[in-house]
Amino acid sequence: MTQLPTYDDVVAAATRLAGHAHKTPVLTSRTVDEEFGAQVFFKCENYQRMGAFKFRGAFNALSRFSPEQRRAGVVAFSSGNHAQAIALSARLLGMPATIVMPQDAPAAKIAATRGYGGRVVLYDRYTEDREQIGRTLAEQHGLTLIPPYDHPDVLCGQGTAVKELFEEVGPLDALFVPLGGGGLLSGSALSTRALSPDCRLYGVEPEAGNDGQRSLRSGGIVHIDTPKTIADGAQTQHLGQITFAIIRRDVTDILTATDAELVDCMGFFASRMKTFVEPTGCLPLAAARQRKAELRGQRVGILVSGGNVDLARFASLVGG
Ligand SMILES: *Cc1c(COP(=O)(O)O)cnc(C)c1O
Repeated sequence: MTQLPTYDDVVAAATRLAGHAHKTPVLTSRTVDEEFGAQVFFKCENYQRMGAFKFRGAFNALSRFSPEQRRAGVVAFSSGNHAQAIALSARLLGMPATIVMPQDAPAAKIAATRGYGGRVVLYDRYTEDREQIGRTLAEQHGLTLIPPYDHPDVLCGQGTAVKELFEEVGPLDALFVPLGGGGLLSGSALSTRALSPDCRLYGVEPEAGNDGQRSLRSGGIVHIDTPKTIADGAQTQHLGQITFAIIRRDVTDILTATDAELVDCMGFFASRMKTFVEPTGCLPLAAARQRKAELRGQRVGILVSGGNVDLARFASLVGG
């Protein structure tokens, strides 16, 4: 593999994002501090543009396109936040975006992607291969494919959220970050090792899809079937080559949380902190709650990764 990205690349990403991405708020809660007997800081990327940190990585990657790449545009395949992040970033940078989405993706997500100006190509997830469709579109039209996590510019963009957190609150004893394919966790690792080197850094994934935990423990990337979980932002089948290399070097451990724990946290965020968090964004708080004893008296960071869950789904999960 070529050289891994470094914290300098995260700093360069932060410069590209300045004036385009929001500097999201860090919230605290007396209730949480009392529950933990600790000082807990929530970095709220549910207030990021398009509702999740994925804007950071997408905008950073697209900002680096050459004039020829810009003219032809970008292609991405995703049914979730990455699709919306690419579509919005492309619109802001004045380039065409093609997003390959399953035809049974939630209508709201397809509409949101179109609303950001993305050209949506639908496929049948049972009979067609989205990567093949993406590659064919890329070849036929000269488009540049941007993957959701295993790309240096994507993960360095994601790392700017935790950079902002440390710059605002100073060093921490422990930091909890959600884990899907590992773009957010590996970027966070670069910022953590530069700005708070002794901080324990935990990735948190759904218990039903603990491929990351198994990969870290076995030393090789473990592949699984698409896990059945409400944490749709972390329904990945494996870590990336680049993300795993960084995670393996810099991350303390990978923890898991159950769907029931995520639902509890969604309700807690809404009722006690007046903030709206999607299931995947609840992974870190759920795991920190399991470790309250260890966190006593410490300074703890929780990365809240996104807030894109429609009201009907929120109500059926939390109200049920
Ligand atoms: C994509 C996503 C994640 C997981 O990020 P990775 O970089 O794939 O590990 C977590 N939370 C939300 C809200 C997401 O959209």
